[in-house]
Amino acid sequence: MMTPMRYILLVLGVIISIHYIMSFTYEEYGKATSISNFAEQWTAPKSNPLYKTPVPDEYCKPDSPMHLQDRKANASIVVLVRNSELWGIMSSMKQLEDRFNRKFQYPYVFLNDEPFTQSFQDHIRALTNATVEFGLIPPHHWHQPSWIDEERASKSRDDMIKNDVIYGGRYRNMCRFNSGFFYRHELLQKYRYYWRVEPDIQLFCDVDYDPFLMMQDQNKVYGFTIAISEIPATIPTLWDVVKSFIDANPDTVVPGNAMEFLSDDDGKSYSLCHFWSNFEIADLDFWRGEAYSKFFEYLDEQGGFYYERWGDAPVHSIGAALFAKKEQIHFFNDIGYQHEPFEHCPQGDVHTKGKCWCNPDESVDYQIYSCLNRYDKLFS
Ligand code: GDP
Ligand code: MN
Repeated sequence: MMTPMRYILLVLGVIISIHYIMSFTYEEYGKATSISNFAEQWTAPKSNPLYKTPVPDEYCKPDSPMHLQDRKANASIVVLVRNSELWGIMSSMKQLEDRFNRKFQYPYVFLNDEPFTQSFQDHIRALTNATVEFGLIPPHHWHQPSWIDEERASKSRDDMIKNDVIYGGRYRNMCRFNSGFFYRHELLQKYRYYWRVEPDIQLFCDVDYDPFLMMQDQNKVYGFTIAISEIPATIPTLWDVVKSFIDANPDTVVPGNAMEFLSDDDGKSYSLCHFWSNFEIADLDFWRGEAYSKFFEYLDEQGGFYYERWGDAPVHSIGAALFAKKEQIHFFNDIGYQHEPFEHCPQGDVHTKGKCWCNPDESVDYQIYSCLNRYDKLFS
């Protein structure tokens, strides 16, 4: 007699037999139902919540960077920064990676007047697949030279602080280093072009093309996003020194230059206009060249980096405007960029194409302290 209990045992027996036959016959079935496989799957018991387990590779889509055979420029991304600015520079670098360098993989060079900590280096390397090098600035490229009269320099700093001039008291070594030394650093010797990046900037748009190759193919030497007016109190004698340099070295000034950006009266007075150098995409060989090298030496001998507060922005700008043809200075209109307190935001189609998220109405381009109209006039 078949009791209900016997029926149940029979059915169970049949199911188990079929399971074993299927497991041996069909590999996939075996895998899908084996106990060990359930342990491997991306599910987790309550004692080990899912967020503690990395997502398995099968869910990830790898980056598709440049192809090896693609043309590249000889260029690097250059960052002068302090250890204490780690989070600010990571914010800038993350945006640069996402908007540009994830695709192009240009190497980074980090420079500092003190050694970078191991933790700083680890955090930075974790943000990119590109090569990163960390360099120490030689002391004689950074510190105030011994022939500077410190009494006179400190009096000037005190006066500027009293008059509320921004960075009246510090900042000098950095401005001088950026004006005349960064491009001589040993880690930069192998490169021709650079993109200067500072902490806490915003990059609002995709940079889908290679700006370095554009510079190279178009024979550009200096690229900017923002052009504004300098604070007169920081450079009381700079223009007089520039004029005497030009008188002494007339051959350095090239025909077809951008003097009209610097001056309304053919060089008698300075417009105060300069390219904002916290963003630069430029040609290192231009700074290394004879004209700019002579120019920097001449300025440095006057001591104005310490007796006043000459910034690298007016110094680079004046150099680029005098020793290059005006066509060699490029406005990167398509690179949406912010460094407090100013931003450049592309308008119209350029904004759309670049997937920019900035507000075009907040762009400094044609506000009164902007010098972009003066740049435009060079070409009209
Ligand atoms: P601002 O942009 O004119 O307000 O000046 P910042 O404070 O941003 O300085 C300009 C750049 O030089 C930034 O990239 C800073 O990280 C860097 N910098 C300024 N001072 C120092 C310094 O003393 N040491 C180092 N290593 N970097 C500095
Ligand atoms: Mn800055």
